[in-house]
Amino acid sequence: MKIGILGGGQLAGLLAQEIIRTDDTLVVLDPSDNCPASFMGANQIKGSPLSEKDIRRIAKEVDILTVEIENVNTDILKVIESEGLTILPKPETLEIIKNKLQQKSVFHKAGIPTCDFFSETKRSVKCRDELGWPLVQKAIQGGYDGRGVAIIEKDNSPSDWLSEPSYFEEFVPEAIELAIMVARDTKGNERIWEPTQMEFDKKRNILSTLFSPPALEKKIIEEAKRISIKAVRSLEGIGLFGVELFLKDKTSLFVNEIAPRAHNSGHHSIDACETSQFRQQYNILSNKPLTGTSAIFPTVMFNLLGEPGFEGKTNVEGEQAASKIDGVFVHLYNKINCSPYRKMGHVTVVSERLEDAKEIASKVRSLIRVRGDKKL
Ligand code: ADP
Repeated sequence: MKIGILGGGQLAGLLAQEIIRTDDTLVVLDPSDNCPASFMGANQIKGSPLSEKDIRRIAKEVDILTVEIENVNTDILKVIESEGLTILPKPETLEIIKNKLQQKSVFHKAGIPTCDFFSETKRSVKCRDELGWPLVQKAIQGGYDGRGVAIIEKDNSPSDWLSEPSYFEEFVPEAIELAIMVARDTKGNERIWEPTQMEFDKKRNILSTLFSPPALEKKIIEEAKRISIKAVRSLEGIGLFGVELFLKDKTSLFVNEIAPRAHNSGHHSIDACETSQFRQQYNILSNKPLTGTSAIFPTVMFNLLGEPGFEGKTNVEGEQAASKIDGVFVHLYNKINCSPYRKMGHVTVVSERLEDAKEIASKVRSLIRVRGDKKL
């Protein structure tokens, strides 16, 4: 079977590493020269996930099509689906998800808790009065890794506001950020992983560390899982989904957003769970039964980001020393070039006790360096 994916970054690459163990192949559509997935076992077609012509080229070659990113041309995907190619998640689901405002509106209608939001796209006084300060302004489309999110204080100057089409949300103070991966196949079978707690580098809004299980009451964990499944069902989601949630005051859960694909918050599943998110994604795409998602070990995962101050050819130090430590798994994405804060790999640490995994992870963090070969 030939599986196609729009986008050829590390998420497609990690799926390719799973598919390479089978008789099937992964074809990626990516505009860059030698995309990361092409070094991780996928065949690349050079082209854009937004171009009708390029999507038609990959569609002709594959038996099923999925996505690695949400910013894809859903209009042409709808046409290609009507011509007979299976596309998972369905283009209608992708269309809702890629528009953050529409996504939130669907959740609201389905009775899924979200923080208060205001669909007003202008900076109206009414909007500010209803939501209070600070305000969270979000780009309706195209945001990722914190790009397209602005937290606006009352005394911010107008230049701090986003200029693209956007909407506004209530600011959730000191929220605990959780993520839950959900798999749902074409027959409606569902599997859900245990929640992870995410900690962000607030300056850059990028995931810095993730751990599981979170130290929360069982009642909250069960509720978070229930809401996540309900959110995926509300979008008629088929495929793999990453559900991001906020926990406010340790009591109220809100769905922040859903990713219709593998997610950074599910990377630990490769080493710490019965089935990884990528294996499950493959199960769904190849119409195989879903397999168990139980957590085998408490775990900590952190991203290996390009060191600031350097760019150019990728240099990695300390990887072998780290890999020798019991319970440490280093995953590098084979990206040829490194720039500050680029996602270059990730490390998973597993241990019988979460506290031990956290301690080992902080040691490993200082062992490994990934950076470009030129000083900026
Ligand atoms: P992206 O798609 O770029 O990841 P998110 O909606 O996940 O966008 O926002 C990025 C980060 O911004 C979140 O992980 C969270 O730390 C912060 N954030 C987003 N929305 C809110 C909110 N309503 N209240 C408080 N913080 C928020």
